[in-house]
Amino acid sequence: MLLCGVLAGHAEGAAGQAYRLDPEKLRQAMAYSHAGHWLHFGAQAWTLLVLWGLLASGTAAKLAASIERKARRGWLNSAIFSALLITLLFLTVMLPPAAVGHALAVHYGISIQGWIPWLAEASTSLRNFIVGATFLFMLAHYLIVWSPKRYWLWFASAMIPLTLVGAFVLPTLIDPMYDKYEPLGATHAALVTQLERVVARTGTAIPPERMYLQRAAQKGNGINARVTGIGSTKRIVVWDTTADRLPMDEVLFIFGHESGHYVLNHIAIGMVLGVVGGFAMLYLVSRLAAWLIGRYGEGWGVPSLSSLAGLVVLLLAVAMLQDVTAPIPNGISRWEEHQADVYGQEALHGLVADPQKTALSAFQHMGEAGLDDPNPNAFIEFWTYDHPSTQSRANFAAHYDPWVPGGKPKFFPR
Ligand SMILES: [Zn+2]
Repeated sequence: MLLCGVLAGHAEGAAGQAYRLDPEKLRQAMAYSHAGHWLHFGAQAWTLLVLWGLLASGTAAKLAASIERKARRGWLNSAIFSALLITLLFLTVMLPPAAVGHALAVHYGISIQGWIPWLAEASTSLRNFIVGATFLFMLAHYLIVWSPKRYWLWFASAMIPLTLVGAFVLPTLIDPMYDKYEPLGATHAALVTQLERVVARTGTAIPPERMYLQRAAQKGNGINARVTGIGSTKRIVVWDTTADRLPMDEVLFIFGHESGHYVLNHIAIGMVLGVVGGFAMLYLVSRLAAWLIGRYGEGWGVPSLSSLAGLVVLLLAVAMLQDVTAPIPNGISRWEEHQADVYGQEALHGLVADPQKTALSAFQHMGEAGLDDPNPNAFIEFWTYDHPSTQSRANFAAHYDPWVPGGKPKFFPR
């Protein structure tokens, strides 16, 4: 099935907009994106309120005290408190906004997943969070007790191997808990043959064994693909919605974009920047947490960060700083996505009749399938978008042709 809409030959609109929706879709896209903004910032405020409430009501201190009265060993106290805390936070600050998000996605036809499978996935997430976050909370608590001044440095250092292991096992261990994956060639042999043309042009040496199909159509109508994993688990994943609903040329463009992430080492760069940012972030967290304890600790019954309830203060500091620094990782991500767009479009040169038209039509299709707002607020885009808006991506594609006389491709020889 092909998504309907403004297809190949789509010309730039009078308003200078390459990505356009018909009036009814436009109305829906704007309503959906506005609801999403309220949800995004509402969830952030709600998280801060819950963490603050846990401290200000004395709940965090009382819970820590009751655990410390019953259990004997420090590590056991820490494990019980951490597991209870993450369960409480999952049920209060993570699940409700996620449920509202799902209801919105179903209402606007982005998702077709029923509530029972949705809840089954949520319970998988809860289990993963209990395992993963309990370990991290215990580690943080241990390091704070062991080195009250430098714990942030040790924790950030510990995150380096943990990040590597996490990125390595993500596609083989975590992702299959949520979605079905199979070798792309098993059901889309003709597509793999076509993708091999992009591989040959990009020199990426991505073998067919590293091309996977994700069964996404049973959950929703979104169109996507991604690069994931590191080392021997590095791979390109194409959603079945992308493979089955887009014209072949556009799938090649999306594959070219993902190849750009692959070739330009965006996963490794993301991890290095994440580690560097992690050190800076954790230093700031330690300063803010110390200030919060000094200013409010007595009233909260949390005299020191090294007490169990100090973990809640630490989380509050993390949440506050994440909220205000969000534009930094998002800006870096948008830059990488733009690089991949340039790469993908250049990769198509000589493989499809008109790379500009192909890229433009792919953005149109992806935008319609995801009900992307064609006119996002500039501040919202700067603050919350991890990809450039579909409008700016489509506008770029419409104007970018480095093979005109005097032009210079960025990643390929002329
Ligand atoms: Zn991308």
